[in-house]
Amino acid sequence: MNNYIKPGSTIGIIGGGQLGKMLSQSAKRMGYRVGIFDPGQNCSASQVADFHCQAAFDDQKSLAEFAHQVDVLTFEFENISLESLNRIVEEGAYLPQGSSILRLTQDRLTEKEFLRTSGVPVADYYPVSSYEELKQGLEQLDYPAVLKTRRFGYDGKGQIMLKSEDDIEEAKQLIDSAPCILEAFVPFDMELSHMVVRNKQGQTRIFPLSENIHYNHILHQSIVPARVCEAVANQAFKLAKTIAHKLNLIGIICIEMFLADNKILVNELAPRPHNSGHYTIEACQYSQFDLHIRSICGMTLPQNKLLSPVVMTNILGQDQEMVIDQWPNHPDWHLHLYSKGEARQDRKMGHITQLAQNPESILKTLKKIDNWSYKS
Ligand code: AMP
Repeated sequence: MNNYIKPGSTIGIIGGGQLGKMLSQSAKRMGYRVGIFDPGQNCSASQVADFHCQAAFDDQKSLAEFAHQVDVLTFEFENISLESLNRIVEEGAYLPQGSSILRLTQDRLTEKEFLRTSGVPVADYYPVSSYEELKQGLEQLDYPAVLKTRRFGYDGKGQIMLKSEDDIEEAKQLIDSAPCILEAFVPFDMELSHMVVRNKQGQTRIFPLSENIHYNHILHQSIVPARVCEAVANQAFKLAKTIAHKLNLIGIICIEMFLADNKILVNELAPRPHNSGHYTIEACQYSQFDLHIRSICGMTLPQNKLLSPVVMTNILGQDQEMVIDQWPNHPDWHLHLYSKGEARQDRKMGHITQLAQNPESILKTLKKIDNWSYKS
């Protein structure tokens, strides 16, 4: 088999957060060695990996040394310096996913342009780097609109909602800080996502559609299967397939979507495992992490099935203690804690997965738990 990376070989993961940890756990189970590249001492992934190269992400020399110690490289976040990555690839590092997918997805503008030219519906948008462009953009799109920095945004950081002229001052500050993109506000009925994995041979596996509930821009819950009609599910599936094909995808991607008026608009792409795919660990035959590893290690991809309807609920810093106290009384909770240290406000510390024939009953029971911060 071409480029088959065998168990016993070493997978190098750039980034050592919870995604790196769960990737490592999956890889270790399959018999791989795992190295983590991350600046954080005792970062989540380093606790399960074979070795940890503790260095800044822009430390080119350390990254090159790390690349020498591994047989295949992957990443758990998308904001890696392309220059550094390209340099180590030129020096011989094996990065089956390639770096062009990062170039495309690191910038919301290039990502939107790619989607639009691929025939994928997106919200109307307008590039904005100056106050003049903001005014022009607002003339075209009108209020309400969402202003986002083109790069480095996550969990609602680097974005503001413009409801009226009163918000212009705040918008100016964001534009002064970085080039932005103005998006038409989508009055969505639901947020959805598909995890998709593809390999070199072009085999594509699309995980079941997830319905995602956010609070304060942070994912709170994923419900699978998403509570949508078949026609909507088919739309989402087709778009996911088109995107994977047009990208010539290797490895995994998360496709985040809005459902508005029975139409799907794609919001964002994340070329890595994703929070909305955590449910796959217990609820699917193969998890998002398993299939990503199979893809980058040059293996065929098995057909994959949802074993049970499922609800995944995130645990933020302010809720961790309460969840730990409650856990003994909830034998149906598959508890995942990322061992991140300080439980700061809004920091993703873990998640709970619950399998059930009737997800509605899970949602009701969770709502009854006192002190859960999402209710406040
Ligand atoms: P993003 O960083 O683009 O994933 O945005 C974070 C969250 O903000 C999304 O999950 C939505 O809840 C909300 N959001 C982002 N863009 C829009 C939009 N154009 N219209 C409505 N809500 C949005």
